[in-house]
Amino acid sequence: MTTALITHDECLSHVTPPGHPEQVARLEHVLAALSGKDLLRVEAPMGADANILRVHPQRHIDHVRGSAPIEGWVQMDGDTYMSPGSLKAALRAVGGAVRAVDMVIAGEAQNAFVATRPPGHHAETAKTMGFCLFGNVAIAAKHALDHHGLTRVAVVDFDVHHGNGTQDLLWDEPRVRFVSSHQFPLWPGTGAADETGAHNNVLNVPLDMGTGSQGFRRAMEAQVLPAVDGFAPELILVSAGFDAHRDDPLAQLNLVEEDFAWVTRELCALARTHAQGRLVSCLEGGYDLQALARSAAEHVDALIAAGA
Ligand SMILES: [Zn+2]
Repeated sequence: MTTALITHDECLSHVTPPGHPEQVARLEHVLAALSGKDLLRVEAPMGADANILRVHPQRHIDHVRGSAPIEGWVQMDGDTYMSPGSLKAALRAVGGAVRAVDMVIAGEAQNAFVATRPPGHHAETAKTMGFCLFGNVAIAAKHALDHHGLTRVAVVDFDVHHGNGTQDLLWDEPRVRFVSSHQFPLWPGTGAADETGAHNNVLNVPLDMGTGSQGFRRAMEAQVLPAVDGFAPELILVSAGFDAHRDDPLAQLNLVEEDFAWVTRELCALARTHAQGRLVSCLEGGYDLQALARSAAEHVDALIAAGA
C-alpha cells in the first residue's frame, strides 16, 4: 500500500490579487517540499456537478461558474476572489478530494494527500467565503456515504480557523462526525463549544490565543481523538490547514511542524483501528510559505509511514 499525492497544475491558475495570503506560491512551496518523496502521484480530475450538488444547490454552482472573469479578478465576498483560472482550479479541488476517496476505498492507496487550491472549509451551502468556493471535504464525505455506501465518516479539521463551511454543509448529517479545533475567538467567529450539530454530530474544540504544542496535544487527546475513536469511522477525512503554526501571519497559535506530524500519526492510528487505515487529507490554510511547506512535508511523511 502507498500514499497518494493528488494535485493538478490548474490549481496554480487560481490567481489572487497581489498581497492576498491565499496565493499561488503556497501550492508551489508545498509541491516543492513533497518532491522526491515516495508518493503515488495522481492528477486531480475535474469534479462533476453531481458531486457538488450533494452539498450545494445548483444556484451556488451557477453563481460560481457565472462569476468567473475573462480577465483580472472578480471579488466574490470580502476575502474571496476569482481569476480566469479559478473555476477549473476549484473543480480540480473538488475532483481531487473525490478521487482520493475512491482510491483509498478501492485499495489503490492506503491514504492520500490532496494538494489543491482553492481551499474549501469556509464555503457554506450557498455562499463563498474565506478564500473558498466549494466545500471540498464535505463533498468528499458525502461521496463516501452516498456513492460508496459507507455509514460513518469522521471529518477532522485542525486548521486554525473554524471549519464553518464544513459544519454548515454537514450540520444535519448523522453519518458524519465533524470535529474542528481552532483558535477562538477568531475569524469567522463561529465554532463555540455549544455548536453541536443537529444530531450531536459536531464537536468544536476552541483553543485560546497563544496555545502551543502542549495545549494543542492535550486538547486533541482529551476531546478530538476520543470523539473520532468513539464514532468508529469507516473513513477519516482531514481538513489539513497548517495556519496554527507559530509563524503563520493570520492567527496566534504556536504549533510547530512536529505537532502536525504527531496529530497525523494519531489520526492514522485511529484509521488503522477502525477504517482499514483509510484516511484522506485535503490542504486547507497555511500562509507562511516556509512553515506551510515544512508542516505539509511532515504531515505527508507521517502519512507515508502509516501507509507503508
Ligand atoms: Zn485557516
